[in-house]
Amino acid sequence: MNFCPNCHAKVSRWELVKKTLIKKIYPIRCTQCSQSLYFTAKSLRITFSLIPILPIVLIMLIVFDVPETISGLTIFALLFMLLSTYPFLLELTDKEKKLY
Ligand SMILES: [Zn+2]
Repeated sequence: MNFCPNCHAKVSRWELVKKTLIKKIYPIRCTQCSQSLYFTAKSLRITFSLIPILPIVLIMLIVFDVPETISGLTIFALLFMLLSTYPFLLELTDKEKKLY
């Protein structure tokens, strides 16, 4: 569970997914104290490092000539796994930091 660094209010994982992926709001605002919340550079780096997994798996499926139904299911399962793990990797901070 993530907490607002300013008022220690809980920020739910679903709220993180909803605001960043669906509504594309960044920085997120704390619902209690309207403090701007950023993701820590460390957590962003880990999250971005997961993105290349998808094309790598796709290439492997093509190279090994995996049947379409199996490849489709693999990609679907992988996408689901990535989307469900990503809010757990994110950490919140009240200061904006550069990635590198
Ligand atoms: Zn707050």
